[in-house]
Amino acid sequence: MKFSGKNVLVTGSSRGIGAEIAKTLAGFGLKVWVHYRSGAAQADAIKEEIIAAGGQAAVIGFDVSDEEAFVDAIKTIISSDGELSYLVNNAGITNDKLALRMKTEDFMQVINANLTSTFIGCREFFKNARKKKFGSVVNVSSIIGETGNAGQTNYAASKGGVNAMTKSFAQEAATSGIRFNSVTPGFIATEMTEVLSDDVKDSINAKIPMARMGGAAEVAQAVAFLLSDHSSYITGETLKVNGGMNMA
Ligand code: NDP
Repeated sequence: MKFSGKNVLVTGSSRGIGAEIAKTLAGFGLKVWVHYRSGAAQADAIKEEIIAAGGQAAVIGFDVSDEEAFVDAIKTIISSDGELSYLVNNAGITNDKLALRMKTEDFMQVINANLTSTFIGCREFFKNARKKKFGSVVNVSSIIGETGNAGQTNYAASKGGVNAMTKSFAQEAATSGIRFNSVTPGFIATEMTEVLSDDVKDSINAKIPMARMGGAAEVAQAVAFLLSDHSSYITGETLKVNGGMNMA
C-alpha cells in the first residue's frame, strides 16, 4: 500500500487491535510511534518486533484522557521527526453496566477515554497538519456506536459520538487536504472480548453472517487503506469491519 507521509502515531498500540495496526503500518514503510498508558513493556516488545522485521518504531506513553499529556506528545513527535503525517485514534475502554446501575462517573470515564481523547487527537493533528496541507486520520470506533447495546450506554454514546465527530472534522478539513475517516469493527478477538463467556461468544457468533469473530489484522488492513494514498478521495466515511453485521 502506498503512503506519501512518513510517520504515524497509533494510540493504544501496546496490545490488541492497535498493536496489529502498528505492525501493519510499519510493514508498509511508515515509522510507527507505538503508544501505551500502562503497558510500557508490551509497547517496547511491539517496537522490537517491528525493528526486527526491518521497520522503524519508537515508543511513547501517556494517558489519552489527559489533554496536556496528549498535546505534549504530539509536540514531542513533531520535534523529533519534523512532522506527524498520520494519526490512528485507537485507544479505548469499556466499563459495562446496565444504565439503571451506571453512575455518572462510569459514563464520563468512558466518554473521556474514547470520545474526548479522540477529539483532542483530531484537533491537535489538524492544527499541525494544515500547515503542510497533508494528513490522514482514522478513528477506531465500534459497531456499538451504530446499533447501541444493552449494558453499554456509555460505550455506545462514545463511539456514536466518534462517528459523528469524524464526519464533522472531515468537513472542516477537506479543503486543507486532510482526511478523517473511521472504522467500526464488529466483534474482534482481543483481550477486550476474551473476557466474554463461551456462551456469550457462541451467541455473538450466531449473529454474525460470517459466523466468526474478526481478527485484529483484518481491522488493521482496513485502517491502513483509509490512511493510505489509495483512499485519497474518501473522507468522512465510516467503514464497517464486522463480518457482515448491520448491513443496512
Ligand atoms: P485492548 O483492551 O486490547 O487494548 C486497549 C489499548 O488502549 C491498550 O493499548 C491500552 O493501553 C490503551 N488504552 C486504554 N485506555 C487508555 C488511556 N486512557 N490512555 C492511553 N491508552 C489507553 O482493546 P482492543 O484492541 O480490543 O480495542 C482497541 C479499539 O478498538 C478500542 O477503541 C475499542 O473500543 C475498539 N473496538 C474493539 C472491538 C473488539 O471486539 N475488541 C470491537 C469494536 C471496537 P495500556 O494497556 O498500556 O493501558
